[in-house]
Amino acid sequence: MNDKPNKLITDDGLRLDGRRADEIRPMKIEIGVLSRADGSCYLEWGRNKILVGVFGPREAHPRRLQRADAAVIRYRYNMASFSVEDRARPGPSRRSIEISKVSREAFEPVIMAELYPKTAIDIFVEILQADAGTRTAAINASSIALADAGIPMKGLVTSCAFGKVDGQIVLDLNKEEDNYGEADFPVAMTQDGEITLLQMDGHLTPEEIKKGFELVKKGCKEILEIQQTVLRKKFETPVEEPEAEPEAKIVDTESEAAETEPSLEYAPEAAAVEETIEEAEELEAEPSEEVTETVPEAEELEEIVKEAEVEVVDGEAIEEAIEAETEEEAIEAETEEEAIEAEDESKGPWKVVKDPSESGSRGENDE
Ligand code: UDP
Repeated sequence: MNDKPNKLITDDGLRLDGRRADEIRPMKIEIGVLSRADGSCYLEWGRNKILVGVFGPREAHPRRLQRADAAVIRYRYNMASFSVEDRARPGPSRRSIEISKVSREAFEPVIMAELYPKTAIDIFVEILQADAGTRTAAINASSIALADAGIPMKGLVTSCAFGKVDGQIVLDLNKEEDNYGEADFPVAMTQDGEITLLQMDGHLTPEEIKKGFELVKKGCKEILEIQQTVLRKKFETPVEEPEAEPEAKIVDTESEAAETEPSLEYAPEAAAVEETIEEAEELEAEPSEEVTETVPEAEELEEIVKEAEVEVVDGEAIEEAIEAETEEEAIEAETEEEAIEAEDESKGPWKVVKDPSESGSRGENDE
């Protein structure tokens, strides 16, 4: 443990970390750092390092905790054993249970829990590194993680502490100021200025509290701007759809493909697209070559067709000849028949009768 410094505020009015009385520590925020959480936030505030994961609304377990009219909000503040100078005892403590309770209550007025009956909204806070003001930092981070999870809220919750150090009211106490100062007063408020958390450790006069509130309002306003900036940055940035790009390029016309250079990130897909386009071009080019090459073949075909026509003409002639031949044969056959008939008639004493009815009964001939 470090010994108490002689002065926490120097003669020129600066604090040991160089801040003025009304200044907050530098804040750094990242959203969506946990892939399995519905919403998450990593926040650094001075030397504080905090991770928050939000889960839900999801079915509340055990069921006896379910509320028929609203979602149950659960807030768990946990300090990692390595987060402080002296190892913190793992597991819940009186302090962590108290911080979890007051922090949950800080969110209850803004979370629209009535929209999700029988469900639970879980906020898990892990303090990775502590340097005083962890509950306020955790509330700021939780607010962003809840927004990241898409939990309907009436507004963001912002939190900051003021305190008394060397007899002066200062904003956002660090570890030394918290340890050796006279008072610590954490506050949380909605963006409309409604107070949702208020605690006091130490002794303050009403005037000091009034002055402290002026500082806290200013601090919370600055924090709200940071929160809104990071949330806007995340949700206003158009979502990139890398999968859609190669497909779009395949469909793209040649001119469009020429206009837009493929990004390095998708170079393999772009190469594949180029190959496809080249192949398509080759395929388009091939049939025209074939046409020019097959011109002689076409001529040959024409000749074959002409010959076939000639053959068809010959075929007609043959048909005519066959017809003529058959006619001749028929005439010959008729003359032959007549000759035979004449011969038969001349051969015997009987008369050749074709139809017995024509010339009486056979008996006549037999006679
Ligand atoms: N602290 C610690 N060990 C503990 C609890 C707290 O070293 O078991 C330190 C830690 O740095 C914490 C600071 O004391 O940030 C102030 O703790 P406090 O209970 O006032 O809560 P906080 O200001 O962090 O919300």
